[in-house]
Amino acid sequence: MARMSRRSPSPGRPPVVLICGGGIGGLVAALCLDRAGLHPVVFEAARQIRPLGVGINLLPHAVRILTALDLGPALASAGIATADLRYYTRRGEPIWAEPRGIDAGYRWPQYSVHRGELQMLLLDAVRTRLGPDRVHTGHALASFETTASGVEATFTDRTSGNTVANVHGDLLIGADGIHSVVRAHHYPDEREPVFSGRLLWRGVTEADPFLTGRSMIMAGHANQKFVAYPIGPGSSGRMRINWIAERCVSDPSNRGRSSGAETDATPVVRDWNRTVDPSHFLPWFEDWRFPWLDVPALIRGAGAVYEFPMSDRDPVARWSFGRTTLLGDAAHPMYPVGSNGASQAILDALALANALRHAEPGSDLADALTSYEAARLGPTSQIVLANRQQGPEAVMQMVEERAPDGFKHLSDVISDAELADTARHYKRLAGFDPDALNRQGDTLFPETDVDADA
Ligand SMILES: Cc1cc2nc3c(=O)[nH]c(=O)nc-3n(C[C@H](O)[C@H](O)[C@H](O)COP(=O)(O)OP(=O)(O)OC[C@H]3O[C@@H](n4cnc5c(N)ncnc54)[C@H](O)[C@@H]3O)c2cc1C
Repeated sequence: MARMSRRSPSPGRPPVVLICGGGIGGLVAALCLDRAGLHPVVFEAARQIRPLGVGINLLPHAVRILTALDLGPALASAGIATADLRYYTRRGEPIWAEPRGIDAGYRWPQYSVHRGELQMLLLDAVRTRLGPDRVHTGHALASFETTASGVEATFTDRTSGNTVANVHGDLLIGADGIHSVVRAHHYPDEREPVFSGRLLWRGVTEADPFLTGRSMIMAGHANQKFVAYPIGPGSSGRMRINWIAERCVSDPSNRGRSSGAETDATPVVRDWNRTVDPSHFLPWFEDWRFPWLDVPALIRGAGAVYEFPMSDRDPVARWSFGRTTLLGDAAHPMYPVGSNGASQAILDALALANALRHAEPGSDLADALTSYEAARLGPTSQIVLANRQQGPEAVMQMVEERAPDGFKHLSDVISDAELADTARHYKRLAGFDPDALNRQGDTLFPETDVDADA
């Protein structure tokens, strides 16, 4: 590929923002920054963006932002509006149930959606609205230098190793995921992501609808859990059910029933697309057959099963260094607990656009990145730490510890107040308390300001 060099527009033109990473966070950042009057350009390492991954959830605060970006109808047809969330013991006894999204009184739905389909929907929106030349695939950020006037970034093709572009921008955003090059540049001594001791196996299976047909369920406890929710219609009246089986393997007593090396306590391969044979973990879930869901049948029915070691990173003190900052998983990789990974990346994207929307190329750009960091680093660090304690799912572990052999009445084990408090506390922490969220407006930016596209 030809080597190219691009220069930033002269002063008076919108600041050029180099977004490294075309995942959920990077693409939503491009849409928000465009609305804020900046000139974002996305650089994605993959040569071709394909609909990879399995299911994720978008919480109402993130859906508010996507709706303000005029993506509401597209989301509604891509995903399933989650009606309720239910927790069960490993024997299928109910612990907690709460309505979700519109059913819970939010002004915006919660969606369960295929991650890759969401990414393609966002990619299409960026290419259509900003122009086809604003997303460069096959451009992996290799290195960058900050200068008085901006950032010089070098991109390579990961397959050939060749440099494909040297690009000048006013700002550089690291939206490059859990293995962020931008983060590693600023934190060269930071080691690999911290392994939780738990492995996740994920898949999508066509099966009959369960419970409301729009329910999200979690069964088990901290050492072994199963999560399932529909992400779209399947064939012949069935649904595409996303599922996640999880098992703690750092405790030696939890190992040994699997035939695979995947049960080693220190796996290092953190590749979202790594497939495994389900026989490695199926025995642990073989007797999880509930009247409303047959877990082993769901596992057996998946076309492909992906293994991922549940990992995060310790929160850092800074994301913004001069003209560069971090966003999404690059900034705050967290355990997939409480449905927050993609949602928090989307909240970052809007906060970044809010901080930058009055900025001109000049000294205040770095200050704007510091303001963005001030708005988002504290709240997201708290979620990273709360998710290490199981977030709202902690009630499942409480019940397991207090009544490992089952119970006659749940109220003998845990009170309604304790259950409700745990759920309420996490919603506040993660920014989706219904009353507070419903007071927010429908527009992207505060209504006292003029939207850049208005
Ligand atoms: C292929 C894939 C599959 C996933 N599947 C799931 C899933 O099934 N369930 C789930 O809960 N979460 C999944 N995730 C993670 C989830 O998407 C994120 O936790 C969340 O959406 C936050 O998004 P993000 O944009 O910050 O990070 P990511 O979604 O990880 O996106 C980061 C992007 O940056 C690109 N990139 C990486 N390095 C560079 C570089 N040096 N230069 C340029 N681009 C770079 C990556 O290719 C990727 O497209 C997946 C992530 C990926 C990349």
